[in-house]
Amino acid sequence: MNSNITSQEQLVLSVAIPRAVNHLFDYKVPDQLVSKIQAGSIVRVPFGKTQTHAFVIEKPKSIKNLEKEYSQIALKEILEVIPEMIIPQDVLKLCQWAEEYYFMPLGEILNTAFPALLLKEKKIKKANKQIIENDNTSKIFELTSEQKLAVDIIEKLRVSQTTEQSQPKVSLLHGVTGSGKTEVYIELARNTLKDGKNVLVLVPEIALTSQLHNRFQSQLKEPVGLWHSAMPDGKKYFQTKELIAGKLRVLIGARSAVFAPIKNLGLIVIDEEHDSSYKQEDRFKYHARDLAIVRAKFTKATVILGSATPSLESQQRVKEKKYTHVFLKHRVAGGTLPKIEIIQLKPENRVQDIQAPLDNKTLQTIRETILKKEQVIIYLNRRGFAACLICQDCGEVPQCKNCSLSLTYHKKQNKLRCHVCGYFVVTPLFCAKCQSINLDLLGAGTESLETELPTLIPEAKILRLDRDQVTSHSRLEKILNQFRNGEANVLLGTQMLVKGHDFPNVTLVTVILADALFRFPDFRAEERARQILTQISGRAGRGELPGKVIIQTYQENHPLFEVLKGNAKETDFLERENLVRKELSYPPFGRMAKLRLTGKNQDAVKRQSEELALFVQNTSKNKQVISLGPSQAYLEKMKGQYRWDLILKTSYIQDLRFVVERSIEFCKTNRWHFSVDIDPYGL
Ligand code: ADP
Ligand code: ZN
Ligand code: ZN
Repeated sequence: MNSNITSQEQLVLSVAIPRAVNHLFDYKVPDQLVSKIQAGSIVRVPFGKTQTHAFVIEKPKSIKNLEKEYSQIALKEILEVIPEMIIPQDVLKLCQWAEEYYFMPLGEILNTAFPALLLKEKKIKKANKQIIENDNTSKIFELTSEQKLAVDIIEKLRVSQTTEQSQPKVSLLHGVTGSGKTEVYIELARNTLKDGKNVLVLVPEIALTSQLHNRFQSQLKEPVGLWHSAMPDGKKYFQTKELIAGKLRVLIGARSAVFAPIKNLGLIVIDEEHDSSYKQEDRFKYHARDLAIVRAKFTKATVILGSATPSLESQQRVKEKKYTHVFLKHRVAGGTLPKIEIIQLKPENRVQDIQAPLDNKTLQTIRETILKKEQVIIYLNRRGFAACLICQDCGEVPQCKNCSLSLTYHKKQNKLRCHVCGYFVVTPLFCAKCQSINLDLLGAGTESLETELPTLIPEAKILRLDRDQVTSHSRLEKILNQFRNGEANVLLGTQMLVKGHDFPNVTLVTVILADALFRFPDFRAEERARQILTQISGRAGRGELPGKVIIQTYQENHPLFEVLKGNAKETDFLERENLVRKELSYPPFGRMAKLRLTGKNQDAVKRQSEELALFVQNTSKNKQVISLGPSQAYLEKMKGQYRWDLILKTSYIQDLRFVVERSIEFCKTNRWHFSVDIDPYGL
């Protein structure tokens, strides 16, 4: 108990309630509970006509020290303190940091970090001690000299002393696919554990991590927890207790694991740091990579950002000497990187009588591969892709003159619109660059390939992998296993194919239409296209057999391909991309925020967004903030709600914060439905 406070004084506690309210609520603390409460405790309180759990932000204080004046009766009492559950100090600080940065109510953030389900004890039947098999699947091998060097550099950083004021200890492990990044993570995790500190590994997609989990667990000889939103409540409850008690020392999880109550954190690994799934798009729009670095700063932990294609944001930090750059330039096991061939789609070479754009040569190569009893991966564009207009002769896609983004096609209005600033033109009849009239919607028809391919190659046995198909984890595992066992020779799929699978018998990877990637109307489109193409190419030739990649496009001269083929330097691509970003104040040079108004009534939402735009313009006078729009969201209507957006850009974060804060007040006063997205992805 706090010795400054005598027990005669009434103690009061301010707690955050898991609701969308911005302020804290005060409760009286019964004497017998005082000693059990500290910052991070979770309590149960009466709230309105019901009860709720609530988060304790700071120690109880005397009622005299409160800003508000209360009569003793007005305050209700805390009902109970939830035993064993406590939010670690670094997580609490992280949530408070996020409250400020993302303009989100603290109670909601804490509820994301510590959902209510963790508070109810669940019976678990099975014995929970995980048995670590000393299996022989984890081969013991020497690290290569490149890997050793990487470990040495990061280890030096890890053991260096820092204060809270100094830079966070972050290294960017920039290693080509198959270069053995995971071994580097494991080695550093081992050192961290030896020092009595614990390890958190973030991955973009938990469904695909069983291989990774096995490697960590068998090599570290230490139980490794898995953490994700879909895991059973009982398991999560049990793991939470183990983490808080410091018994579970290594955790692999998807983005929400950044809040996991892991004790004594010494190392955070963020695998595939460039991956946009680290950005949460629900109500609380945080970026797990960014938050991980903030958390690491609080605990003085080391951070490893791993990627074959690091984000421009992280590379910029390297340039600014904030992060250490560590390279792995060679593949360890699978020898050389696959050979990449770019095929220009031309009407005369196209396979006839099918909808999907498929070149005769591509078809031939797929057939040969199948006949050699090797396997093929075919990558289609993401489903529901933007409807951009593309010239089939020169690959030109009409762009917004303000935003350097592809314009999207709106059928009803027969217009091409920029969904960021609202600029539009009437749909042209011919290509502005080459005058061709062969204009087509980007990527239309590619999905029909699943039915068309067997008519062309009778030997093709196809498995399909995409989010619509794969609704459950077990189903995903099943498809992947079927393919690995050779029950099919073609794996056809979307985005999900990209992530780290190891299929030794895959010797050909085909991308049906690369244009759909780099023409996506988002300023990160080219960066992402490069990441996806690199990653998907990395799936070919991981075994003994050499790999080949065929990328089909309407625009073979796109500079991106020169980088992929190795004819141009990666740095050239980055420089070019950086120039555009700098010019338009896009990240990593500028900061952005998206204000979104939503509602069932289209006219009302539109009018509100216009009023907000006016307000923002007035508020931004004398501030270095550019506002774009209002404009309807890329998908204007979703789940019955109309959505209109305003984009704010700046090079001065404080100015941006000022305008956002005022805008929030303005929307609240008007009782509009709105959301704020700081550092938005996919404009
Ligand atoms: P990345 O994560 O960079 O794509 P991985 O860590 O998955 O690469 O390594 C690719 C493959 O190489 C894995 O099968 C791994 O077991 C193997 N490997 C890693 N390091 C070594 C090494 N030093 N010697 C032999 N094989 C290795
Ligand atoms: Zn053209
Ligand atoms: Zn625009």
